Amino acid sequence: MRPMRLATTRPGLLRHKSDSVAKEDVSSQLILRVAVIGLPNCGKSTLVNQLMGQKLFAVSPKVHTTQQMTLGGFVEDNRQVVLLDTPGVVNYQYGRRLKLSRAMMTDAHYSCMESDVVMTVVDASNQRTREIAEPQIIRTLKQNDHIPSILVLNKVDKVKHKTYLLQLADILTGREKQHSTRATHWDQFSDVYMLSALTGDGVDNLKQHLLAHCQPGEWMLDADQFTDTPTKKLVEDTIREKLFIHLHQELPYIIKQENVYWEEYADGSLSIYQNLICTKDCQKRILIGKEGKVIKTVATEAITDLEKAFGRTVRLFLYVMSRKPS
Ligand code: GDP
Ligand code: MG
Repeated sequence: MRPMRLATTRPGLLRHKSDSVAKEDVSSQLILRVAVIGLPNCGKSTLVNQLMGQKLFAVSPKVHTTQQMTLGGFVEDNRQVVLLDTPGVVNYQYGRRLKLSRAMMTDAHYSCMESDVVMTVVDASNQRTREIAEPQIIRTLKQNDHIPSILVLNKVDKVKHKTYLLQLADILTGREKQHSTRATHWDQFSDVYMLSALTGDGVDNLKQHLLAHCQPGEWMLDADQFTDTPTKKLVEDTIREKLFIHLHQELPYIIKQENVYWEEYADGSLSIYQNLICTKDCQKRILIGKEGKVIKTVATEAITDLEKAFGRTVRLFLYVMSRKPS
């Protein structure tokens, strides 16, 4: 795999490709900017990773691993598709309960404003969320109804009866009427895709759709730059993903990450030092685990993912501490 170029600053979402590109190259460039929206845990980050063909974004079975909007892209010939992976659209009250930042609850709207197409992802295997498009999603689509939208039914690998998927598509696009007073569908989806972001089944059809809809415009990312998310943010998200996987309940939400030190050596290897800050000693003990088992697992799994993503040796130093919130 090609090693990823390290980006150290976060440019604006609409940053243009570097000036070093010849003018004639730029004039033939095509681009499509896609906002990916959906409820937490429907598989947005998994899908973006699958479309990009590599794992850059943190994925976990618990909600809210993606805490900020991230941007990634892929290129084929003169076409570039840029995906804005938003945190799940969440209900404000629920967000407050988990003390999520306001940005996490509103980013989806902003990412749509900057996109050419809105891709709504629905977890087709989740009985609770699949049959009604959540009001927050409908609201986001309504606010952006001048932008074309497509529907993705994800996790089809978990759906036993495939005919159900057709029925679900009809419900969500309004072709099959529901007896409900709530807005449960969106009739402006131009296309529906059924796929499994996890296995990759069906993802190529969606990829071809996105490539086919690219429009003349300058690329946002250099061809060898898969994402504009600063490398440090990717590291942070990867560690956070492991915390979500190995810790329970509220603890992963409480732990604060603090980047302490970062060094890139001549041989290309990286040393990363990060503090993991708990608010109580008892939390610290849980994070460390018996004989350091939990923190060691977090570090080892994070290193494996980071080495794969960066194509270079990574040394990770995690310091667990407790500090009362100021
Ligand atoms: P996000 O919150 O929408 O970004 O969701 P994630 O991408 O973090 O995925 C949430 C969980 O769903 C993870 O455990 C994924 O492995 C899982 N997942 C995502 N896509 C699929 C899929 O197509 N099939 C199955 N079985 N699981 C999936
Ligand atoms: Mg995500």
